[in-house]
Amino acid sequence: MRQDTYKHKGLRQQMVEKLRQKGISDEAVLQAMAAVPRHWFLDGALDAYAYEDRALKIGCEQTISHPSTVAMQSQLLALKRGMKVLEIGTGSGYQTAVLCTMGAKVFTIERQKGLYEQTRKLLADEGYKARCFLGDGYQGLSGSYDRIIVTCGAPEIPSALMAQLKTGGIMVIPLGEEEQEMLRITKEGESRDEWKIEKFGTYSFVPMLDGRNMG
Ligand code: SAH
Repeated sequence: MRQDTYKHKGLRQQMVEKLRQKGISDEAVLQAMAAVPRHWFLDGALDAYAYEDRALKIGCEQTISHPSTVAMQSQLLALKRGMKVLEIGTGSGYQTAVLCTMGAKVFTIERQKGLYEQTRKLLADEGYKARCFLGDGYQGLSGSYDRIIVTCGAPEIPSALMAQLKTGGIMVIPLGEEEQEMLRITKEGESRDEWKIEKFGTYSFVPMLDGRNMG
């Protein structure tokens, strides 16, 4: 059993207060982030930093996003309980766990086998009911989704993902190579001129890589 001590809970509450001060106002997001033990998703050696607003290494040259980035992306999704959400870039599984705690039915794809295996086990052991897939996020996953969240920097908007987004659905995607602009795309209709695109500032994500080189 992984531990969640009073100390962790206290640090987590402080993290949530800081998110509030930074303008996160969606109570469902704040409650979920107050509930999910972020330190479970990190190597034990990083325990002391788990509740700072930092991105940290999770192995395989990847990083867990800043808590403020997870909060922002989760808030932009405008999620309702029971919605089907597709996540690209499972990574540590922290964002996945936050979405599960918000009541979403989460489908998540990771391209790196080691991370996929490790995170799938962690999520299952801790009772998060996400469905995990090893695959290429550019191709997405067959089905149709109310929401899509991309957690790596995408050089373009993947057309397969737009096709898998329901009409009326929302995709949150950091777009760009060196740095990314956070976009919220609302699919008001099938054709590209019916996509409403809003911008929410600059971020720095690890790149969304070609799925054929499954390191
Ligand atoms: N949501 C994660 C963020 C991890 S970083 C978290 O909370 O920890 C982004 C992840 O996207 C990395 O694990 C990386 O391996 C993965 N990734 C990059 N390109 C991908 C692709 N084409 N398909 C699926 N996953 C991809």
